[in-house]
Amino acid sequence: MRRFHIKVYGCQMNVYDSDRVRTALLRRGWEEAADEGGVDLVVLTGCSVRGKAEQKVWSDLGRYALPWRQEGRPYVALTGCAAQSLGKRAFNRYPWVRLVSGPRHIGLLPEGIERVMAGERVALLDGNPQEFHDLDEFPEARGNKYRAYVTIAHGCDNFCAYCIVPLTRGRFLSRPAEDVLREVRALLENGAREIILLGQNVNSYGKDLPEGLGFAGLLRRVARTGADRIRFVTSLPQDFTEEIAEVMVSEFNVCPSLNLPIQAGSDRILKLMNRRYTRAEYMEKVHMARSRLPELGLSSDLIVGFPGETEEDFEESLSALLEIRFDLVHTAAYSEREGTPAASMPGALPRQVRLERLTRVNEMQDAITLSINRELVGRNYRVLVDGKAPKGQGLEGKALLQGRTPTDKVVLLTGTEDLLGRFVDVEITEAESWCLRGTVIE
Ligand code: SF4
Repeated sequence: MRRFHIKVYGCQMNVYDSDRVRTALLRRGWEEAADEGGVDLVVLTGCSVRGKAEQKVWSDLGRYALPWRQEGRPYVALTGCAAQSLGKRAFNRYPWVRLVSGPRHIGLLPEGIERVMAGERVALLDGNPQEFHDLDEFPEARGNKYRAYVTIAHGCDNFCAYCIVPLTRGRFLSRPAEDVLREVRALLENGAREIILLGQNVNSYGKDLPEGLGFAGLLRRVARTGADRIRFVTSLPQDFTEEIAEVMVSEFNVCPSLNLPIQAGSDRILKLMNRRYTRAEYMEKVHMARSRLPELGLSSDLIVGFPGETEEDFEESLSALLEIRFDLVHTAAYSEREGTPAASMPGALPRQVRLERLTRVNEMQDAITLSINRELVGRNYRVLVDGKAPKGQGLEGKALLQGRTPTDKVVLLTGTEDLLGRFVDVEITEAESWCLRGTVIE
């Protein structure tokens, strides 16, 4: 029995792709190993969103020198965005890297891996950016049984100046609605209770499809599959419409949670980033969403230290956080990505300045999130218990479990494992900046 091990870095897209590759290998008679000791194949799915992420892939790839010298194993298959951006350089640097496959060639991976096991070196990188070789498998073998991601569109056409995604994941391509719905039904039969629709920009869904079914239409059709809960990530402010908000209001199983990346608070920086909305236009979308969904859980993404960002520009990002009071913000210091427009822009800031601004923005947002979470103590929420908490013990020797509120806040609660996969009513008893704690209301 040939054995493999999968390592994943990066976003949900990489996790989703890896779960499908795992499923495909298991269906072809491979055995999955919990670690890489003594395996025939390591599938390393790497991220390129920031320089640090890519460095991690390089250093990880370097670790196979000793077993390779001693046993000529493992073969390493490099996939994900890092495969597309590193490309054949990985071949030249490490003889154990036997396959490099970009995200748009995932469907060719099983056959590519067979060729590797037959002694070939395989590069699945080229081809036209409109093309996508998809896998038949849905993520049956996935990390979380009760929460499942479904990609609805690949790639992106927005070319934000700092972003490498259009270069690594190619042009925007909607999946046929029937394929999405078939996968959702299969996941529900397979035990999933929460479906998260995934895309770099889900709101643009359908703009390239003849039948003209937009994201609002797809969301409503997914809502009718009977899933207990539905979420979607990531939205783009200019493409988030009243129509989508209307589906979130009218379909009971679509959760009132929205990830709407703002990226910067200064119009000058938004223009340099090629984000194509102003702060005022962004605020209009926030007001619209909150007026339609008063209980909305609103999260965002913010980059600090973009080339040319002055202290005044940065202050605008801080004031935006104070004005909007997001529930959660994924923050990052700007990182040059080779081939992106921003990488050759003037006004690059010293690393120290970027990191200092990142610290200031995190301190402010942590305080905002904590104060919002404190207001929720005493509230009751319906929570889907979807797993064990990453660490910690529950009370009275019971397990510490975790779940999410409809507004996508993580809740830790004490309970027995028979609660896994079930909805429970929880009273919030404590608040922290990254999660809530609560007790199950019998
Ligand atoms: S919308 Fe912009 S930031 Fe998001 S994936 Fe596309 S290019 Fe990147």
